[in-house]
Amino acid sequence: MSTSTITPQPPGRFLEGTHIEIINDDAPRGSIRCALFDFDGTISLIREGWQQVMVPMMVEILRQCPSHESDDELQAIVSEYVERLTGKQTIYQMLQLAEEVKTRGGTALDPLEYKRMYLERLRPRMQGRIETLKSGAAAPVDWMVPGLVGLLEGLSQRGVTMYLASGTDHEYVEHESALLGVSGYFEAGLRGAIDEYKKFSKALYIQHIFRTLKLQGNELVAFGDGYVEIENTKDVGGIAVGVASDEVRRCGINEWKRNRLIQAGADVIVPDHREHERLLQYLFMEP
Ligand SMILES: [Mg+2]
Repeated sequence: MSTSTITPQPPGRFLEGTHIEIINDDAPRGSIRCALFDFDGTISLIREGWQQVMVPMMVEILRQCPSHESDDELQAIVSEYVERLTGKQTIYQMLQLAEEVKTRGGTALDPLEYKRMYLERLRPRMQGRIETLKSGAAAPVDWMVPGLVGLLEGLSQRGVTMYLASGTDHEYVEHESALLGVSGYFEAGLRGAIDEYKKFSKALYIQHIFRTLKLQGNELVAFGDGYVEIENTKDVGGIAVGVASDEVRRCGINEWKRNRLIQAGADVIVPDHREHERLLQYLFMEP
C-alpha cells in the first residue's frame, strides 16, 4: 500500500559517531548475499530535479481541461500523486495524468504519449549533464550520491551479488550507469522500465532474483530513496536501507524522504553512502 499522508517520524538511534539512523534494530542482519539498488537518488544524481519538469507539464495539461481547479490547486494535486507514485515506472504517473484529464472532462492522450512529451522536455535539462560526463568535463563522482563507489566496493569484497532496478526507462539506466562507471558492479542484473509496463516491476524483479539465487529473505539488502523498493524488500523479509538523499545540497537528510521511507518500513536511514564502512559493519554484524 502506498502512503500518501506523510507524518513526521520520531528520531531513531544513531550508530555512535555517525549519521546512520537505526529505525528497526531487529532486522535480520549478518546473512546478506544479495544487494538490490534503486538508481535515481540512490546511485545517480543525473536526473535530479525531474519533478520540476513533470509537475508543470501536467499542470499545463490539466489547465486545458473543460473543468479545472486554480493553478495552485492543480499544483498541489499533481505534486501529491507524482510524489506518491515515484519509484514506480514513470508510466504510472502518466496513467494517473490521463485519469485526471478524464475526471475534468478532457480527452486523454495515450499515457505513453504523455511519457514521450515528458521525456522530450526533460532532455535539455539532462543533456548538459550527460555531455559534461561524456567529454570528461565532469567526473562520474560529480553526479553520484556521495560514497557510492566505496559502498559498492565494500559489498563486492564481501562476495555480495548486486542488482539494479529502476523505474526510469531501461535504455537510460543502462546508458547513465555506464557513464557513471558503475555498470560493472551490476553484471548479475540491471533493469529499467519498459513500454510493456506490466511485464516489469521491482516486486517481480525481486521474485526473479530470489529464484535465480535461491535466496532467503534475510539474505537480501536493498538500498533506495523511494518507498517502492523499501516496501517490496520488507514484503520478502529483507533488510531495507532508506537513502534519504538531499540531491541538491548533496549532504544531510531530505526530511520528506526520511519520513516517507520510515513509513514504508525502512530499517536504517542514511543521508548518503559516505559512512559505508560503518554501515556494512553493522549490516554484516562484523566486530
Ligand atoms: Mg530513486
